[in-house]
Amino acid sequence: MPDDVIVYRNATLIDGTGAEPVRDAVVVTAQDSITYAGPAQGAPPAPEGARVTDLGGRTLLPGFFDTHVHFGFEDTSRLVLNNLDIHPSVHAFETAERMRRTLAAGVTGARDLGGIDAGFRIAQERGLIAGPRIQVALRLMSHTGGHADYTLPTGVNLHECGNTTGEIVDSVHEARVGARKLMRDGADVIKLCATGGVSSPSDTPDDEGLTVEEIAAVVAETRRHGGRPVAAHAQGAAGIRNAVRGGVTSIEHGYLVDDEGIDLMLERGTFLVPTLATFDFEDRKHLMSKKAYDTKRALADRTFERVAEAVRRGVRVALGTDAGISPHGANLAELVHMVRVGMSPMQAIVAGTGAAAELLGLADRFGTVTAGKAADLVVCDGDPLADVAVLADPAKVAMVVQGGEVVAGGV
Ligand SMILES: [Zn+2]
Repeated sequence: MPDDVIVYRNATLIDGTGAEPVRDAVVVTAQDSITYAGPAQGAPPAPEGARVTDLGGRTLLPGFFDTHVHFGFEDTSRLVLNNLDIHPSVHAFETAERMRRTLAAGVTGARDLGGIDAGFRIAQERGLIAGPRIQVALRLMSHTGGHADYTLPTGVNLHECGNTTGEIVDSVHEARVGARKLMRDGADVIKLCATGGVSSPSDTPDDEGLTVEEIAAVVAETRRHGGRPVAAHAQGAAGIRNAVRGGVTSIEHGYLVDDEGIDLMLERGTFLVPTLATFDFEDRKHLMSKKAYDTKRALADRTFERVAEAVRRGVRVALGTDAGISPHGANLAELVHMVRVGMSPMQAIVAGTGAAAELLGLADRFGTVTAGKAADLVVCDGDPLADVAVLADPAKVAMVVQGGEVVAGGV
């Protein structure tokens, strides 16, 4: 129906494939899909009654993906409380508000790697809440005392409170059962911990997590159920190698990846999601435990060096911020860090669009501005190829379109 056709004109198109930008581009959407994207000259005539939106020379890009967020929290000083101190209803409203803020920042798709249930995905799909289309991991899988084990040194066991974000497994058999439980409960992606971490109470980034055999068992189990991606929290070099050898789809963080780890990732096509935004932590110091702050400071220089080396060698990168640890709604600030570790602005944009959709298994329908794909679009002021920071500033994200509808801003 012509009423549902929108013609966006007078824009520079960056389509998310890595192709050169198209000046004076036109993008046509019909209902929830893109029907044309390319030079104005080749555009089909607008049908009678089509709405025409002049973008005033702004830049039009695909809706971005943040492949590593935690909508369920924001103040890491309260992490250990696991939201046990608030009503579940208030927690749900807070979570929905973070999703809305993330959408307005230009993120039309996101992957929640632990802390919320599948109901948030369903609520977004049904239009009950505004937010990115989401995939959920539900709970992090780790061994006893690992990154997902929030049993405190005082003996208080949050796993017995019915509000746990951990799936604790200690053998190959339990890893398999854990993966089955997560899939039963609606996980779109399995998140496992191949190393310790910064925010967990009793381990460090260099500690190894699940063994290669346990990781391989999880991967094998997901393959028997439609091949969901497996994301590995992995910060220290040994755990990163274990995760890649076990067959995971992505290394989350990857801070201290060594040369052998990079070789393995290149060999297997493993994605790196470096979550560099978490290193903007000085102004969030008051929200961090002393252990987390000291660990993060000690990691910073080496991380930027090692991630830069992985980028230089050509490891595939997808955008992820660990929002929750970093602020929600400033997700595209990660692009600035990506450029800092040696990616071109175009490579960083692809990492947040086309490549991210590929990591999530959604590339057939999302991630690029191409005829036939979903009409998820971002319009920003200025030229992000000259200065990628324009995307990092939510005030310069002029308009966000999701499924053909303007969901934030407007021009
Ligand atoms: Zn995380």
